Amino acid sequence: MQRSNLNKYLGVIGGGQLGKMIGLAAANLGIKSCFYDPDPDAPAKNISTLFFNEKYDNKIKLLEFANKCDFITYEFENIPMDCLKAVRKKKKIYPGIKALQISQDRHLEKSFITNLGIKVVKYENIKNFYDIENFLKKNTKKGILKTRKLGYDGKGQVRIELSNLQKINFHIKPNNYIIEELVRFKKEISVIAIREKNGRIKTFEPSENYHKHGILRKTIFPASISKNCASKAKKIAEKIIDSLDIVGILAIEMFVLKDEDIIVNEIAPRPHNSGHWTIDGCNLSQFDVLVRTIYNMPIPKIIYKRKCKMINLLGENFNEYKKYLSKKNHRVYIYGKTKIKKERKMGHVNIID
Ligand code: AMP
Repeated sequence: MQRSNLNKYLGVIGGGQLGKMIGLAAANLGIKSCFYDPDPDAPAKNISTLFFNEKYDNKIKLLEFANKCDFITYEFENIPMDCLKAVRKKKKIYPGIKALQISQDRHLEKSFITNLGIKVVKYENIKNFYDIENFLKKNTKKGILKTRKLGYDGKGQVRIELSNLQKINFHIKPNNYIIEELVRFKKEISVIAIREKNGRIKTFEPSENYHKHGILRKTIFPASISKNCASKAKKIAEKIIDSLDIVGILAIEMFVLKDEDIIVNEIAPRPHNSGHWTIDGCNLSQFDVLVRTIYNMPIPKIIYKRKCKMINLLGENFNEYKKYLSKKNHRVYIYGKTKIKKERKMGHVNIID
């Protein structure tokens, strides 16, 4: 009898919706997933056969988890580095630790991207209140103050201008914040880039993103940008993924300016909400591709089957999914979160052409 060489689990740190969708893609390739998440109600629990409901600082449990796995991946960026370092002693982590370290800190991220010769928004690392005032005076007078670490979905950000500096009624710890110029972009786009174990790079075509209060609401594929702009965006994505030694995928969020110049906003070495359209739009989704790169399986040419619009189902519009269920071109994905909260991502719907 032929023995399968996929004999253990794909370890996934984090059991949120992204982890769940990684697990479903792995299952389609006959690979079981093992999740590690301190939340007993984590969405991935619904689909897992092995689930470590433990804290991220429990080194003993982390090693036990690593021992069960072929390889390890992660589904969110704010994993404590100590946790990854413990796991790394036992098993390979993909897309990699370097990319994660950089993307965990907005200042590191922006200086890394700038050093590659790629544009980012005008910004400054903040040491005290006066740095903020000076930055605003020197630049556009309107800016966004962001925590360097642990911000997501618009959390840890405040829009400020010279006339309302009193909004900063909290202590500015040195080197904990950056301030960015408020960009008047024409569009927001993102590109998911792929790097295989042999170093070969591919990208998905850019999609167009709509945010409100810092949270993604809607993604449209294809993005309505010129061919030239799309090709520039893909080249930027290729350059960044190549420089990070990634095996797996990297999402790159960008602002497109009036003249179709591009500046990079953020990177994330994991599947991304703005890549959910690939589930129904392409022959392979961002999740399929991640699992394949980790297991060194072929990645064929990406085929775009159809146009696709992805709408996030947040706590406040979650119940809309009921009406989408009866529509023939709406594919509904519910994450299975137990608590419905305003602006919490509860599911998404892909509307196909
Ligand atoms: P972020 O967490 O940095 O990705 O920010 C979330 C969203 O807020 C972005 O996708 C933009 O819609 C908006 N945003 C963030 N930074 C800026 C900026 N410097 N200028 C204008 N809009 C921004």
